Amino acid sequence: MHYFVQRSDLRDLYEKTAAGERISDADALRLFESRDLNAVGAIADLARQRRVGNRASYILNRYINYSNYCILSCQFCSFARKKRDADGFQLSLEEIVEKAREALKLGITELHIVGGLHPSLPFTYYLEMLRALRALDGRLQLKCFTAIEVLHLSWLARKPVQETLRELKAAGLDSLTGGGAEIFRKEVRSAIALGKESAEEYLDVHRQWHQLGGRSTCTMLYGHVETLADRVDHLRRLRELQDETRGFVGFVPLPYQPENNRIPVSHPPTGYDALRTIAVSRIYLDNFDHITAYWVGLGLKLAQVALSYGADDLHGTILEEHIFHMAGAATPQLQTEAAMVKAIREAGRIPVQRDTFYQPVKVWEDSVPEAGTSDGPTPPYEHA
Ligand code: SF4
Repeated sequence: MHYFVQRSDLRDLYEKTAAGERISDADALRLFESRDLNAVGAIADLARQRRVGNRASYILNRYINYSNYCILSCQFCSFARKKRDADGFQLSLEEIVEKAREALKLGITELHIVGGLHPSLPFTYYLEMLRALRALDGRLQLKCFTAIEVLHLSWLARKPVQETLRELKAAGLDSLTGGGAEIFRKEVRSAIALGKESAEEYLDVHRQWHQLGGRSTCTMLYGHVETLADRVDHLRRLRELQDETRGFVGFVPLPYQPENNRIPVSHPPTGYDALRTIAVSRIYLDNFDHITAYWVGLGLKLAQVALSYGADDLHGTILEEHIFHMAGAATPQLQTEAAMVKAIREAGRIPVQRDTFYQPVKVWEDSVPEAGTSDGPTPPYEHA
């Protein structure tokens, strides 16, 4: 038994995890409420090791927000703008393709594309965007749209969700993003994202995508007005859908950023809260392979520490992040591959460049990045 757990009152949960037994909602709440972060981390580290071994991943990707105009006004959102706002924007298809072209030169394998619910762009804009990016490079993986965007597109297309997803897939969509899950409990949702889709709708969009053979990630926005029990409820619903479809490739807990919005929270979640949330997620979500420490919200230093608290992924290079930064994130807007490889190595893991579906693109094994090349991108799709 791990040193940190030997004299802890969480020993039984360590033993359950070691035996491969699923923990209950009550167990998850105990873990959240425990003050013994080291013991919680040790259990999560065991679960992580059993699930993915000694590797930790990152992806070379680029974020593109096609527009920040949105017909909704979620209370927590610092990103959305109305047409009357001076800092609203909307990219043309040519501008999107140009951003993608520039990023391809840097070796990215994925474009991560989301925006607000635009008041007037037609469904054809989204189809043409996917087709244009697919035509640019057939190997580029297109991870696009949150569940609420899919519902918006289905409304625009005047077609059922599954048919809309089918059309998007045919146009080039590879994966849905996990954004927009927030916290599932209705009362919390109303307090932070009134007007957004319900938990059931979010889950059903992902369910239908999975039924088409698609894969997606999922998220949880924590550290605002929700309770710890709300977090457990959220994780339970994700675990249930994963039992049903096995379509989630990873889970990304997102620490709430408090600036420029209307939620009365003055400070983002602490490092302690971030680590325990990642750890409990790893232990409870026993049917998920990958748990991400999202450096944009945590900072790379804390994300690195999270690799010892259940996380096995640092997310990506991103290049141009808007949503968290408009909400006050003080992290850089991009991360170099070298910084992520170094962070993973120092944590004692083997760095793996992954693709959208967490398949390895490059495994660093025991090799050391060559001097002078480690700050630059590596060629895409290289299997080392
Ligand atoms: S969170 Fe999304 S749906 Fe809500 S206001 Fe912001 S951009 Fe619009």
